[in-house]
Amino acid sequence: MTLIKLAGGKVFDPANNVDGEVRDLYIEDGRISAYPQGGRNISAEYDLRGKVVMPGAIDMHTHIGGGKLNLARAMLPDDHRDSFIFRTDLTRSGCGHAAPSTFTTGYRYAEMGYTTCMEPALLPANARQAHMEMGDTPVIDKGGYALLGNDDFLLRLLRDKTDQKLVNDYVAWTLHASQCIGIKVVNPGGISAFKFNGRKLDLDEPNPHYGVTPRRILQALTRALTDLGVPFPLHVHGCNLGVPGNVATTLDTIGAPEGVPMHLTHIQFHSYGAEGDFKFSSAAAQIAEAINATSNITCDVGQILFGQTVTASGDNMSQYRNHAHAQPNKWIVMDIECDAGCGVVPFRYRDQNFVNALQWAIGLEMFLLVKDPWRIGLTTDHPNGAVFTSYPKLIRLLMDKTYRDASLEQIHPLAKTMSALSGIDREYSLYEIAILTRAGPARLLGLDDRGKLSAGSLADITVYNDDSDREKMFASPAYVFKNGELVATDGKLTKVVWGATQVVKPDFDRGIEKKLRDYFDRYLTMKMDNFALGDDEFADTGEGANLRVHACRK
Ligand SMILES: [Zn+2]
Repeated sequence: MTLIKLAGGKVFDPANNVDGEVRDLYIEDGRISAYPQGGRNISAEYDLRGKVVMPGAIDMHTHIGGGKLNLARAMLPDDHRDSFIFRTDLTRSGCGHAAPSTFTTGYRYAEMGYTTCMEPALLPANARQAHMEMGDTPVIDKGGYALLGNDDFLLRLLRDKTDQKLVNDYVAWTLHASQCIGIKVVNPGGISAFKFNGRKLDLDEPNPHYGVTPRRILQALTRALTDLGVPFPLHVHGCNLGVPGNVATTLDTIGAPEGVPMHLTHIQFHSYGAEGDFKFSSAAAQIAEAINATSNITCDVGQILFGQTVTASGDNMSQYRNHAHAQPNKWIVMDIECDAGCGVVPFRYRDQNFVNALQWAIGLEMFLLVKDPWRIGLTTDHPNGAVFTSYPKLIRLLMDKTYRDASLEQIHPLAKTMSALSGIDREYSLYEIAILTRAGPARLLGLDDRGKLSAGSLADITVYNDDSDREKMFASPAYVFKNGELVATDGKLTKVVWGATQVVKPDFDRGIEKKLRDYFDRYLTMKMDNFALGDDEFADTGEGANLRVHACRK
């Protein structure tokens, strides 16, 4: 048994209220160990004096697996031209920026000190492919949120005013069948409405085919997850994404679950007013105020950063609307059987474009105006707002007012004057960044084994040089440990390990399967037994259990 000592680093561990204290940490058998008793031999020691120590980072919303990513890869050969990782003894070849290959994704995340990543839009009908793809992504642990809320089966249940218990059983069955850790809803009822020629669907507007409103869908799904004891609240991509003036809908959405926990993802895209000459303005202050006042709501931002990327979303309705802005000019929008939809649109965000520049400012306003760092996650909705490798730049924008103000000078002048950003003095501390990127997402997701440096936690640890240039600091950690193994040094990969898939398996009444089997036989191209993924499909790659089941609340 190896015992590793990390000596004298400044530790930021918000889950344990540790704010920059100098401490020693010990790693034993892949876990963080309490102070070892009785003359144990230390097999390796790292001198971390002057360095910053945090748990491994967790990305709660990053599109890293599934059909839409493969469409994006196929559609953007340019994206894969000038960023090759050549095969070495250590790595496999890989490439890509906005839609990188699986290997590149795993290597780059590990090199930045991220050790767990969640794919937020896993289509149950495509779960097998998405999990195989994520299983091919090295180093990081991963998990998925199963998409519901536009599927024919649920909408029928709600149309027929079925008992909530049946909804609960269906949600639980979906989590089991798709091997996911949470449920996501994208444009509730709207993806379905698009199939019936709907081009918008507001919170209280009935779906044209089922007569069910988005509000009803949100209430049914938030209630189901609470009843089932699933720790992670419903992950909501709301109505009217990207539409100027969507602030009213978002404010209504914040109230929709009536006190039941709900997470609003990429809130930046849902915080738009319709004021000014161009009928586009920031509503970040109103949304932040509502979130501050509504304790059952959490959010992540979906910050945009300037440059080329590709947007990949289940929201076919908004992607159809966006296709006019495709750059380069190619795009895909498709329906997916009775399940959902999908749209892929390449995008280039420009600092001299008024709308893009204001979107950038709105995202930063959200970060700086939501007061409680435990209730906001650091995301760019990779690759939709920006590529995940731009996180270090985003962290610098949050931590360094001087840098932020200088960046604000570079953007479209009207966007600058229409944003409140220059008047906001807040600078995030390292402790708060550790909450946003580690402790917060771990607690929200119900991942009890990480996001903290407690004895017994996974030894997923990132060590940074304490550089006043926070972008440089967060881009190239001095050391990254995954399950206690050193996987990167000075921002370069040194070892490849394989992570596990994180799931929940709430109890439910299997009686639902009779109804589901009949439904599959009647309407779908796949049989129910082929649809569901078994535990044995998560092959052990020799690095221990590849499926980690997290507890549900009683
Ligand atoms: Zn997303």
